[in-house]
Amino acid sequence: MESCPITSLKRVGPKVAEKLARLRIHTIQDQLFHLPMRYQDRTRVQSIGSLRHGDQAVIEGEVELADIKFGRRRSLLVQISDGTGSLLLRFFYFSNAQKSNLSRGVRLRCFGEVRNGPNSLEMVHPEYQQVNAETPLAVDEFLTPIYPTTEGVHQRTLRNLSDQALAWLEEAPSTLQELLPEQLLQRFRLPDLAAAVRYLHRPPPDAPQHQLAEGIHPAQQRLTFEELLAHQISLRELRQRHQQTLAPTLPGDGHLRDSLLDRLPFQLTSAQQRVVAEIASDLARPHPMQRLVQGDVGSGKTIVSALAALQAVESGYQVVLMAPTELLAEQHLRNFADWLTPLGVETAWLTGRLKGKQREQALARVADGSAKVVVGTHALFQGDVSFFDLGLVIIDEQHRFGVHQRLALREKGIKQGRWPHQLIMTATPIPRTLAMTAYADLDISIIDELPPGRKPVTTVAIPDNRRDEVVARVRAACAEGRQAYWVCTLIEESDVLQCQAAEDTERLLVEVLPELQVGLVHGRVKQEGKEAVMARFKTGELDLLVATTVIEVGVDVPNASLMIVENPERLGLAQLHQLRGRIGRGSTESHCVLMYHAPLSQNARQRLAILRDSNDGFVIANKDLEMRGPGEVLGTRQTGEMQLRIADLVRDQDLLDDVREAADLMLAYHPENAAALVRRWLGERAEYGKV
Ligand code: ADP
Ligand code: MG
Repeated sequence: MESCPITSLKRVGPKVAEKLARLRIHTIQDQLFHLPMRYQDRTRVQSIGSLRHGDQAVIEGEVELADIKFGRRRSLLVQISDGTGSLLLRFFYFSNAQKSNLSRGVRLRCFGEVRNGPNSLEMVHPEYQQVNAETPLAVDEFLTPIYPTTEGVHQRTLRNLSDQALAWLEEAPSTLQELLPEQLLQRFRLPDLAAAVRYLHRPPPDAPQHQLAEGIHPAQQRLTFEELLAHQISLRELRQRHQQTLAPTLPGDGHLRDSLLDRLPFQLTSAQQRVVAEIASDLARPHPMQRLVQGDVGSGKTIVSALAALQAVESGYQVVLMAPTELLAEQHLRNFADWLTPLGVETAWLTGRLKGKQREQALARVADGSAKVVVGTHALFQGDVSFFDLGLVIIDEQHRFGVHQRLALREKGIKQGRWPHQLIMTATPIPRTLAMTAYADLDISIIDELPPGRKPVTTVAIPDNRRDEVVARVRAACAEGRQAYWVCTLIEESDVLQCQAAEDTERLLVEVLPELQVGLVHGRVKQEGKEAVMARFKTGELDLLVATTVIEVGVDVPNASLMIVENPERLGLAQLHQLRGRIGRGSTESHCVLMYHAPLSQNARQRLAILRDSNDGFVIANKDLEMRGPGEVLGTRQTGEMQLRIADLVRDQDLLDDVREAADLMLAYHPENAAALVRRWLGERAEYGKV
């Protein structure tokens, strides 16, 4: 039934069908799910006095004045009034005949969008017809739907097709199979599917237009619910499939972990302990762990991953740790080598810049299993890298990797049908709504506590015409033995310009701060140079580090307590929060100066204010999600693959708890319907999350 082709409708031949296919309409069911994006109200005549900017309305009134105005652009202005107010009709294209027909006293009925004009409300190029006082309004019975469309398909056509499809539905209710069981509809107070669809195609005149416009009408929420449910179910199934695949059990005996913990100069926070325990129990199971560890910048994810790595090593397996940048991979290697070498655990290092003999040697040690913990970048999943016995894959700052890279790395570890465990760490706190949908196939651990003694970073926003003051601040901080970052930003596309800007800034700062040791890192500084500079900054030899956003993730220099960010208005909130996370890692008060270029847009002003007011990555991520949408927050790839048709993760987050509960019910009691639901909403994409 589901697949009754759209060509079953009248006036749909192959040509039209081809065009409709571009709207993903292939069947009558598709047509029914092709919902209006908005509505016009042509069901009644509104009084001019009641109109407001932005309304779309039918009005009726008498022409008071019609005049051609010769300004920058010749236009015909027609003033009409209905006794409650008057309105200007503005035409840029018109004939003389048109003008002479619009003489004083002529009665017009117009439909158009109302806007604030220079002197009064206006309609630009309204639809209009001449009427007399007795002309009945050819009232529409319903609000007029406006459908998403494509070239060559008129609204008229879509209206006609939806009329036919609705009639078809009337005749054959099975066209739109209700997949939600009665008990579920009642439990969550949802209208039935056919009723919801009918309503949305043809809302009655008294429909709450406000709700419809916002997508929160019960009929819309019914469909949203169904879509979110389909996604939830598909990710749930994916997860079940993971549970059925096998992984090596890595219980470990604890001896390496214990001696690392003994040597650490600090105690794990209780949040770290909790997450370590969660990971430990996952690794001991014969199914691959899929765990995402979220922890705000500085919450101490690295040590958590090291403990996971040691558990795998204790069990006789290799571990790979992948970082998004060479700088970060280098830092991880240093940490891991410091921690693991004294325990007799060998580490290796693989990045793009490792060439020739060195690379061959590293590859050999990875392949024969003598290197137990391998740290690197993308270079880890090149064809010639093979592992001896990979038990655990750790991915740091995962939003920077595409889903496919994550997949490729895991595939390297498949041996005799057993998959490696996977641990993903991110400092971009993923708002709960996103985590529950985009990452429903992962278990999530949260490190929701910072190590003791951290002081919150104080953030100020200062316009860049006060640069001198900012420079003075850097001088004062460094004079007290502290260190500072000076971050240059530019739009991401322009890497070259960004490096250029950093170089210029460095020259300038060297000049005005001759007493300081200044270093420079950016994407184009050679790797050896980069590391040398970072190392000198870390040991305190350099006072000031000028950098691009390459230092955004992971870099850890506790004595640095001042950060200047130039043009912060160009960056997203989450990115700024990451950057700022480079400071506030030691025990001194830290300060972040956002040195913006005035004037700021409303939006930019708001973003900087959020950053100034909060140090909480979760709060910031939620705001970011509200302001920029999930695409930006998650990285476009992942959300591109999510492709929600109706639901909106920000608007509809309140539904998610119910959706989860509904998914449990569906999977437990109505598995066939659950499968049909996934097919309906995800089609071939049902497998998208198969990573
Ligand atoms: P992130 O979560 O941002 O990756 P890191 O793992 O780089 O954070 O840790 C930040 C700093 O905090 C490091 O210097 C690390 O050694 C230190 N650290 C981690 N855990 C603790 C702890 N429990 N107590 C004190 N310092 C800690
Ligand atoms: Mg980190």
